[in-house]
Amino acid sequence: MSVSEVVQTNRDTYVGWLTEACSIPSLATNPEGLAQMCSWLEAKFVDLGARVERLSYPGAPDALLATMGEGDRTVLIYDHYDVQPVDPIDLWVSEPFRPEVRDGVLYARGVADNKGDLVARLAALDAYRQENRQLPCRIKFLVEGEEETGSKSFEAMVARHGDKLAADGCIWEGAGIDHAGRGEVVFGAKGLAYVELTHRGLAEDQHSSLAVIAPSPVWHLVEALATLRAPDGRVLIDGFYDDVIPPSEQDLAVLADLPFDEEAERERLGVQGFVGDDSGPDLLRRYFFEPTCNIAGIVAGFIEPGTSKTVLPKEARCKIDMRLVPHQNPDVKRAWSRAFIRLRPQGRV
Ligand SMILES: [Zn+2]
Repeated sequence: MSVSEVVQTNRDTYVGWLTEACSIPSLATNPEGLAQMCSWLEAKFVDLGARVERLSYPGAPDALLATMGEGDRTVLIYDHYDVQPVDPIDLWVSEPFRPEVRDGVLYARGVADNKGDLVARLAALDAYRQENRQLPCRIKFLVEGEEETGSKSFEAMVARHGDKLAADGCIWEGAGIDHAGRGEVVFGAKGLAYVELTHRGLAEDQHSSLAVIAPSPVWHLVEALATLRAPDGRVLIDGFYDDVIPPSEQDLAVLADLPFDEEAERERLGVQGFVGDDSGPDLLRRYFFEPTCNIAGIVAGFIEPGTSKTVLPKEARCKIDMRLVPHQNPDVKRAWSRAFIRLRPQGRV
């Protein structure tokens, strides 16, 4: 039997593993769920014949290092077992941690990020073992439980255990299927700068009749944010693109060969067009090679639906994430200069 035939034969078993994994609430806010998920995974690695070690770090859930196979070359596979919060809970059709298959798709919190990829990799190893095949190289799995909250302990943990993690290459957590139904191999991922900004411009909330004379922190934040990005998607932060390297001829040749169904993507997003009305090669170039400046959340004042309250709020808050491309300077202060300059005279940032 080929490995893919073994996978087909064991399909239900592997989907069962995924269902088990997705039933465990491994949320940052649920240390017991994290511990349970870590133990589940540890047992799976042991079943697969791996040597497993817990990498502990004070204040962080244990990471697992599982090693298997022999050879001169080593591939490190990175995954994480924690998941994003379930909010907004009202939008769930089924319970986040009660996996449900609808139209051939399994719905659960964390199934796509990152338990599906992780279990697929475990299943691949199992299929290899069932066929008594030798792994072609040494494989090290590094699976942490703190990724969704910024991997705060990861750097220190890597510094402490670095020699154990040495490898010739690394496969990152995510994988996907392209629009032609083929498995994707992605060489690289964008980086991330995340900014949380509170702009307080008044000592206290005021009655909105005072808006004629009292500066509004909410307007100031909205005006400052509007200076960060042009409607066509170009980021207006000073120096934002300075270090960005344009795609090479080779990159562009690969892009030209990628199947990308724009209509299906528009339909999935529920939009008429893409940012900047891009399409074709321009759209793909933007998608793969350009950085972003995204408003992840913005909140201020009174937002209870269906009622009114005449308030001039004392502060406004927002969260911005920027996806960064290679060589781009993630110097947040510099990147934000335009918005800071706008906000500073009006109040405290
Ligand atoms: Zn992830």
